[in-house]
Amino acid sequence: MRKLNAIMLLTLIFCLVAQITWSAPKNVFFFIGDGMGFEQVKAAGMYANGEEGTLPFEAFPFQAEATTYSASSSVTDSAAAGTALATGFKVNNGVISMAYPGDNSELETLLEYFKDKEKSTGLVTTTYMSHATPAAFGAHEPSRNYYNEIVTDYLYQTRPNVLYGGAKWISVSSATTAGYTVVTDRVEMQALDTETVTMVSGQFGSSDLPYEYDGLGSLPHLSEMTASALAILDNDSDGFFLMVEGGKIDHAGHSNLLEHNVYETVEFSNAVQVAINWAQGRSDTLIIVTADHETGGLTVLENNGQRFFPTVSWDSGGHTAANIPVYAWGVNAQQVSGVMDNTDLFEVATADIAYYIKGYVRDSSGAGTGGVTMTLSGDTSETTITEANGSYEFSNLAFGNYTLTPSKSGQHFNPLNYTYSPLNEDKDNQNFTMLYSPMPKDRVYAYPNPTRKDKITIRFSVFYLNPEMEILIYNIAGELVRKIPDEDISKVNGPIYEYDWDTRNDARNRVASGIYLYLVKAKDKSTGENTNVVKKLAIIR
Ligand SMILES: [Zn+2]
Repeated sequence: MRKLNAIMLLTLIFCLVAQITWSAPKNVFFFIGDGMGFEQVKAAGMYANGEEGTLPFEAFPFQAEATTYSASSSVTDSAAAGTALATGFKVNNGVISMAYPGDNSELETLLEYFKDKEKSTGLVTTTYMSHATPAAFGAHEPSRNYYNEIVTDYLYQTRPNVLYGGAKWISVSSATTAGYTVVTDRVEMQALDTETVTMVSGQFGSSDLPYEYDGLGSLPHLSEMTASALAILDNDSDGFFLMVEGGKIDHAGHSNLLEHNVYETVEFSNAVQVAINWAQGRSDTLIIVTADHETGGLTVLENNGQRFFPTVSWDSGGHTAANIPVYAWGVNAQQVSGVMDNTDLFEVATADIAYYIKGYVRDSSGAGTGGVTMTLSGDTSETTITEANGSYEFSNLAFGNYTLTPSKSGQHFNPLNYTYSPLNEDKDNQNFTMLYSPMPKDRVYAYPNPTRKDKITIRFSVFYLNPEMEILIYNIAGELVRKIPDEDISKVNGPIYEYDWDTRNDARNRVASGIYLYLVKAKDKSTGENTNVVKKLAIIR
């Protein structure tokens, strides 16, 4: 309380707008629920947990919705939607990651992008392996129906380390010849030595995998395939890219089979949980969960509780133009917000920018900094700091805790704390304004002390004391006769402060009887300027 210095007459607005970006993710999980719209997610949460919004990925800190239209239609198919997600480009329905419309060139996919960065890659699906969604990540063909060519692209061009899905169109001999270890059921898959095997083709069943609701028999669940693929890929010290598709959510949507749809979505969520468990505590991983489009025009009408299917309506046997949900956790996830386009997710997965905090210090005139400087503490070993006229940029920050401390202290002028983590749910800490409160001029009073005429009482009220201000008393000749010591100002009541200047007992300014005129001024210490004349007054002795 004794740090009180003076009357504050200056509005100093300290404004720091922090924008945070993140280093590129080392490991990327890309989950696609084929045909999984908002209502499919809602229905699955109600069935699994008795309430909507309860699937684990629905707790991801960054969420958005995305448009799905293709280059040729307002209603996309899985090929064009998969291509948009995999490459960042809109193509015509039916096209697998080639520029149609355009120059018909092959469009680089996320799988290829990350493979070029020496990462291991994998494609996992519950449809057959050469179906449109995985094909969009691992093949380039003018038509999704070129199944043999898609398989050839997998085996001889893009060569993902893991290919897990239904066996149609891909054969044991073709994969073996191409250097893959082949497994055909859960037992074989789980017997793999995931620490040493590097190229695996899981060829399960004869076409798509069966519906979860109908039972999988000896074939693996999507979550089991995901766990096996992960165990293989995570041996790579360069990281990995893994696309996992819940492919049969779409099939159940086409057939308006609610039970099957819910079971597929719940198992898809189980597969995401495998990634969540693995990534927990890591700061180098991105998990994206999204869909390619909605299927069936599903609307949930009523929640019937846990383990009961909700009451719903379907109004389509095909795909709809509805926006689809996007959920993101981890490195780069903060880019997911609002309404996005499905082509934006390529950038989300690949963006490579360091964190930074940007901001500035300004007073109310917009010109000065009030002498305030900012100091950043934390892991600043790699941090670049630029500062000019109160503008700051702290770039290349790492995960961890940082504190930005103003050189001046005071109520409402506190250090700012930042935590950079892959699970940063507090988006508010990216933008803030700190207001250095002004003191209204009409709240400054200087008057003869009513009981002691040889004293001047100076009284003012202020909520936040400005340590840069001081009170000075001048005689009528303009000579400084008193600078009020900080420690002599007392707080009398709430925000009201008071100082009594005893002219009689002031050794330096002892005066004889008579009439004296004084000026009381407030002065800004940092600029040296008098900011206000508070009062002229006479002392009669
Ligand atoms: Zn479909």
